Amino acid sequence: MMPGKIWFVGAGPGDPDLLTVKGRRLLEESGAILYAGSLVDKAATLLAPPGCVIRDSKDMTLDEMSDWLFDQASRHATVVRLQTGDPGLYGALIEMTRPLTAAGIAWAVVPGVSSAMAAVAAAGETLTLPEVTQTVILTRVAGRTPMPDGEDLESLASHHCTLCIYLSITLLHEVQKALRAAGWAEDAPILVVQKASWPGEEKIIRGTLADIKQKCQAEQVSSQAMIVASPTLGSADWETLARSKLYDPSFTHRFRRGLAKTSENTNG
Ligand code: SAH
Repeated sequence: MMPGKIWFVGAGPGDPDLLTVKGRRLLEESGAILYAGSLVDKAATLLAPPGCVIRDSKDMTLDEMSDWLFDQASRHATVVRLQTGDPGLYGALIEMTRPLTAAGIAWAVVPGVSSAMAAVAAAGETLTLPEVTQTVILTRVAGRTPMPDGEDLESLASHHCTLCIYLSITLLHEVQKALRAAGWAEDAPILVVQKASWPGEEKIIRGTLADIKQKCQAEQVSSQAMIVASPTLGSADWETLARSKLYDPSFTHRFRRGLAKTSENTNG
C-alpha cells in the first residue's frame, strides 16, 4: 500500500467553528488524528469518522510524534496532525516535517486562524489603523527558548506598532519592563485575552501598562492567553480618526473610480 499523506492542520484558536473548511474536510476523511490536547478544543476531534485513531500528543516527545505519524501514514491515506491556531507559529512544524521528508512521506500544511487574530476579534479591536500603525509584530519573550539577537521585546517595542505577544502571560513583568524601556507610557492600553474564542471560557482583560499585571492576577489569568499592546486599542471610542484611504470617496482602486483622481491614489 502507498503511504498516506500527513496534513498539518491549523485548528484555529479553540472555537470549532473557526476551523477552515479544508481542515474540516480533512478531519472528516482522516484515518488517524494526532491532536495537541492542551489547547485544541476536543470538539474538533468530534468531526473524526467512526474508526479513526485519535491520539492526544501532550505526553509525547517530538520523536514519538514523528514515529506515530510515520506509522499511521503506512495504514491510512489521510493522517492529520491538528495544531492550535496556525501550525507555522510556535508549532514545532519543521522539526516534525523533516523526518517525514527524509522518509519520503508526503505532507502539507493547512493554515489556521491564529490566536492573535482571535484575541483582537474577541475584543472588537483592530490590528492596524490608518496613520496610527500599519505594522503588526507577532512575538514572544524568552522562556526556555531564547530570543535571537535583535529580537528582544524592547527593540521590537521601539517601533510603537501593534505587538501580539504569545507564550508570555507568566512573564508579564518582563513585557512591562521591555515596553517601559522602549518608552511606552504608563497609561498605554494593553489587552489580554485568555482562551480567545473558546465557547463560554473566553476572558477579556483591558488594562494599561501600569495595571495589566494586577488585573490579570485578580482575574486568575495565568495561562493560554494572548497579550496585545497596540496604539490602536480603544480606537472604537476615540473622538477623531483618520479615515481609511481605501474607502475614501476620492480614492480610486481597481473596483471603484474615485471622485478626484491624483497620480498617487491609483493603486489598490
Ligand atoms: N500556533 C498557535 C500558537 C501556539 S503557542 C497560534 O497560532 O495561535 C501557544 C500560545 O498561543 C499560548 O501561550 C497563548 O499565548 C496563545 N494562544 C493559543 N490559543 C489561544 C487562545 N485561544 N486564546 C489566547 N491565546 C492563545
